[in-house]
Amino acid sequence: ISDNFITLADGNKMPQQGFGVYKITDQSEFEQAVTAAWQQGYRLFDTAQMYENEQYLGKILHDLQVPREQIFITTKISEANQGYDATIRSMKESLKKLQMDYVDLLLIHWPINTHFFDTWRAFEDLKAQGLTKSIGVSNYGMVHLQYLATQAREMPVLNQIEVSPYMSQKPLLQFDRENNIATQAWSPLGRGKVFNEPVIAKIAEQKHRSAAQIILRWHLQNGVAFIPKSTHPERIAQNASIYDFSLTDEEMQLMDSVNKNHRVSKEPELVY
Ligand code: NAD
Repeated sequence: ISDNFITLADGNKMPQQGFGVYKITDQSEFEQAVTAAWQQGYRLFDTAQMYENEQYLGKILHDLQVPREQIFITTKISEANQGYDATIRSMKESLKKLQMDYVDLLLIHWPINTHFFDTWRAFEDLKAQGLTKSIGVSNYGMVHLQYLATQAREMPVLNQIEVSPYMSQKPLLQFDRENNIATQAWSPLGRGKVFNEPVIAKIAEQKHRSAAQIILRWHLQNGVAFIPKSTHPERIAQNASIYDFSLTDEEMQLMDSVNKNHRVSKEPELVY
């Protein structure tokens, strides 16, 4: 897990697999989960202002004496903090909570109409100031990216979107690829709702692996980055243990066939 990187369009390297911390709001549960993830070799941690746990991430990484250059930290500017000044101000608050001088990747959490371009201008300036190494977006569709391109000085290097077997997003993955934008899958396990899908359960049984491992391996072989979440140490370990087997072309195609275009979350609205 810790040797497997994607090179972003700005030249920065990012672990393909990371650890998501959405909805882990209890501090001791948070510390246990991140400690287990660190011990299992996870080096990318994905948080957001909206998750209200940036301070727990900062504290536990500090307590674990994790060397800063060995980890990759993503945070996201919430909808409430968009706009030029609020983005700059809230980003500095996030850094304080994280006890860091910079993050590796800063994302716009959702596209919103107001401040569509202002927020991105702040991102370009924050990167120029070294407060983030890379800049990207989340929940952007093709139209949002095309609209952003009309005024951006530099384009996002990454788009974090919902991708799972029930929401495989092939057209957007292709668009991202053609535009040199890495795709990172959120809810890569579809929050567990696809585990009993017969196609997946059967491949899992044949390979003596869990459904979660089969799904994560599918992301890996698709060249998509992914950030599964779990608070159970044995599942955190299991999700990292996907580098010693592979899916055949036929199994990959079978996995693709379960797509239903079902989201676990709301549809990003078209802006402007
Ligand atoms: P996920 O697909 O990672 O599913 C997590 C759930 O699956 C867990 O709650 C657990 O119940 C279960 N699970 C995990 N591993 C398992 C295993 N091996 N066996 C059995 N069950 C297992 O969903 P998620 O937490 O929504 O997404 C992951 C991360 O993506 C989040 O923590 C967050 O960092 C990010 N995210 C981003 C956005 C966004 O708008 N940018 C939205 C949602 C999530």
